[in-house]
Amino acid sequence: MSPGDDDKIIKDAVSETQTTDDDEKKYNIEFIESPHKSKRTAAIDTIVIHYTAANRISSTINWFKDPRAKVSAHYVIGRDGRIVQMVKDELKAWHAGKSYFRGRRNVNNFSIGFEMVGTRESGYTEEQYRSCVYVCSLLYEKYDISLDNIVGHEDVSGDEAVKLGIRTESNKKIDPGPKWDWGKFHQYFAELMNTSIVDDEPEPVEDKDNNVNLYTPDVMMESGVDPVPTSQIMQLIKFFMSWFGYK
Ligand SMILES: [Zn+2]
Repeated sequence: MSPGDDDKIIKDAVSETQTTDDDEKKYNIEFIESPHKSKRTAAIDTIVIHYTAANRISSTINWFKDPRAKVSAHYVIGRDGRIVQMVKDELKAWHAGKSYFRGRRNVNNFSIGFEMVGTRESGYTEEQYRSCVYVCSLLYEKYDISLDNIVGHEDVSGDEAVKLGIRTESNKKIDPGPKWDWGKFHQYFAELMNTSIVDDEPEPVEDKDNNVNLYTPDVMMESGVDPVPTSQIMQLIKFFMSWFGYK
């Protein structure tokens, strides 16, 4: 994915859809604590998406509670869209393992982990995308996470990690896999945020004499240029009326 593509998808989605307060109310975040967590050593700026490689949310919840597991994630998203938080955002969950993202190792330090219940073959339900996007939108606003920093486990513990010697070919990660639809994720994200993103701010219009920015009416007023010269027009009308004998 590239930032340009994301912006276009967002603009297209925003022009077609609106969200309502009712959409917000249907999401509920349960909390079931996992013992597998530790103190953060860096600020949160990344989200990592995984699949559970299992089809039932209960087995993932039970495993993340199991003292033998030594793994966890911040959020587990069920096939029906159920959202279960298992580690508080402020703490580190143990989801990515050996990993690398844009010059930094140990992605758990600065990321939030999502486990999507499903397998490489199952794909993901509409409800799962909506719930995942809902929580991501909250985190996006709270931690100022850019869309480019919402990535898959395969992006931080996959081929690049192997190339760098952080993982081997046999233990590299391949989730959430090709059935995770980033286009859909970004479209739903834009719909929920209901944001209007344009390419860039307009170019300033310059006055050729004194370089004053004439773009906005208030600036025009400050610089002594009347954007609607009604007084001059009225004077002209009165002048011609008097010319033809009207008073
Ligand atoms: Zn994973």
